[in-house]
Amino acid sequence: MQDFFDSQFSQNIPNEFIKEFPGGIELWIKREDLLHSEVSGNKFRKLKYNLIAARDQNYNTLLTFGGAHSNHIAAAAAAGKKFGFKSIGVIRGDELEKNQEIWSPTLKYASSCSMKFHFVSREEYRQKDSADFINTLRDSFGEFYLLPEGGTNNLAIKGCEEILTENDKEFDFICSSVGTGGTLAGLINSSEAHQRVLGFSSLNSDHLQDEVKELVTKSNWEIILNYHFGGYARVNAALIEFMNEFHKKYKIKLDPVYTGKLVFGIFELVKKGYFPENSKILAIHTGGLQGIEGMNSFLKKKDLPQIIY
Ligand SMILES: *Cc1c(COP(=O)(O)O)cnc(C)c1O
Repeated sequence: MQDFFDSQFSQNIPNEFIKEFPGGIELWIKREDLLHSEVSGNKFRKLKYNLIAARDQNYNTLLTFGGAHSNHIAAAAAAGKKFGFKSIGVIRGDELEKNQEIWSPTLKYASSCSMKFHFVSREEYRQKDSADFINTLRDSFGEFYLLPEGGTNNLAIKGCEEILTENDKEFDFICSSVGTGGTLAGLINSSEAHQRVLGFSSLNSDHLQDEVKELVTKSNWEIILNYHFGGYARVNAALIEFMNEFHKKYKIKLDPVYTGKLVFGIFELVKKGYFPENSKILAIHTGGLQGIEGMNSFLKKKDLPQIIY
């Protein structure tokens, strides 16, 4: 199963040189967004061992949770289709139930991969980790392999430990975007003692530091909280313009929720003198490009600049 799984995805993920800043500071990007056209970036890494476990335990259905624009929902739906699992998405927002017209591009895509949706109110969604709620879902849908929101569990972290390879030991800083912290935990676990792992939070949360601490044993890392742009999925014109500029110059698409904020943050920290001279920085491109279309319709409504790739 694992060989089959690995063979479905590109294995040689390149580190791409981006630029040298003054002081000999080099920025490179690991192109995890190129792993697969649909199950891209860290969501593939997080699903890998979970899907292998689901198959080994003879489950034929995956059930998971997410919002209407979730990269994890898109990835779980695509992976389910690819590996022959039925998939059920418990989606936040019961107003979506009756009105397919307002479905996001993410939901339309997941539906095209045969994911079935169970729409719930925001209150109900908050119970996503409660055993009672999960039991009522089992009553409705039968047995399923449960993937938590955002896909983070121990097997997901194990998958993310495979992002860094032998060739990455030369880097001084490993930088990644953070949502639940599962990806960062995997990176920390496989980092070298001489490396520092920086997690750029995509959300405005004081709890992340403690949550990640629970998942790891090393201390060569920190969470950077200054570049979330007001919170999860919040953006402004400066961020969008930075992403458009970056794409024009380096031909790499960043997403507005995670990797755009990450690379913006790295550029700002370089300006502020955070990195010592001659530092070699590796930023992880965790994917997420499927969310751009949905973000662009939002930007249009708000009269903000569009993401133009
Ligand atoms: C989900 C996601 C993240 C955050 O990953 P966590 O493991 O939840 O911290 C980062 N980048 C992208 C593109 C994502 O889709």
